[in-house]
Amino acid sequence: MRNSKINTRRLFVLFLFLGICLGQPAHPPNAPAQQDKPYVLLISLDGFRYDYAERDHATNLLALGHGGVTAKALIPSFPTTTFPNHYTIVTGLYPAHHGIVDNSFWDPARQAEFKISNSAATTDGSWWGGTPLWVLAEQQGMRAASFFWPGSDADIQHTRPTYFYKYDAKIPNERRVAQVIEWLKLPKPERPHFITLYFSDVDHEGHTFGPDSPQTRDAVRAVDAVLGKLFGEVRALGVPLDIFVVSDHGMAAVTGDVDISKLADLNGVETTPNSTDFKFYSSDPKRIDRLYAELHGRDPRIEVYRRSQIPERLHYSDNQRIGDLVALATEPVVLHLASRPGQTQPKGMHGYDVARMPEMRGIFFAAGPDLKAGLTVEEFQNIHIYPLIAHILGLTVPSGIDGQFSVLAPILR
Ligand code: AMP
Ligand code: ZN
Ligand code: ZN
Repeated sequence: MRNSKINTRRLFVLFLFLGICLGQPAHPPNAPAQQDKPYVLLISLDGFRYDYAERDHATNLLALGHGGVTAKALIPSFPTTTFPNHYTIVTGLYPAHHGIVDNSFWDPARQAEFKISNSAATTDGSWWGGTPLWVLAEQQGMRAASFFWPGSDADIQHTRPTYFYKYDAKIPNERRVAQVIEWLKLPKPERPHFITLYFSDVDHEGHTFGPDSPQTRDAVRAVDAVLGKLFGEVRALGVPLDIFVVSDHGMAAVTGDVDISKLADLNGVETTPNSTDFKFYSSDPKRIDRLYAELHGRDPRIEVYRRSQIPERLHYSDNQRIGDLVALATEPVVLHLASRPGQTQPKGMHGYDVARMPEMRGIFFAAGPDLKAGLTVEEFQNIHIYPLIAHILGLTVPSGIDGQFSVLAPILR
């Protein structure tokens, strides 16, 4: 008797210890009320431009759209980079409102830098605002899973998906797909209702060789083949699954570069150099005035704005992390600081204002039991996906999001 009590306690302590090691509390099974809800798989093909599927005959992707819904394009939010847009798609918030305002930025209040190559920052939930779909699901008694998505390995509101992996670009796509299939085979109490899946290949080749290169075309076809296998296996399971395939942004062919350090004196100003927008931070308004005067009208390939004067269409003002001053590329050029020894210039880039560069637009294909079949819709903003998926899963949406359910309601069956 005494022994078994000790064993139970030991087991409990071990369980707690494991939970703490994994950085999160144990997840209960799906609540009974959630077990008959639909399943949603949200797939991102990083950097997959709106015109690639037709251009390169991505037959599996096109077929998914024919059997479901195809949008002419998906309009990314500004800046058209990976972290801000992935997180907009899963929060329904513009980057200024969810706080991941770029792949790299400075936070003047925290006096700290966020950048995607620093996993200590990317996995720290306190950087991430809003309530991503996996947190929304977990909070409402529904299990979620992620084989990658920016933010999914962070403890946002002290919650991670029940099943997730720390980001590792080297994990082969086939393994990611096999794991998703395994999740969908779990018994109902354990089976995740919301799953994300991410592939970076098309973005990678687009940067290295350019959007119009044979390498990018091959990456499009390779990813499409992986999707074909996934769609076939999913169908065989007979799970009521709605599949969404989206991208975060497109890709433009690079025409040149601008060395910002040659245009102005940057001493004494905090700077975060993203390739398409530079952010400058200083608590001294006079210092910002001087920098503005130096940069304004200096080179036709950049435009410089004080944060409060950034064009309204970009929804890019309401956050200190954006900087006190920003320099934005107006053409597909790469911005940088001083000489870049050993660095080769990318042939493709994104991050630009979609109003200036339609090549920044991405994709939206979706099919499943809750969606109409054979429907093509006009392009729409990526903020609207969140309320649609929350509706399908029967989850209550937090107030104050930027996306509107009414925009995509017509694609529901
Ligand atoms: P970008 O610089 O905007 O083209 O970002 C694309 C890069 O982001 C890819 O090369 C990915 O390896 C990286 N990436 C994508 N998802 C994550 C993630 N969850 N954590 C860290 N890095 C990521
Ligand atoms: Zn991306
Ligand atoms: Zn990229």
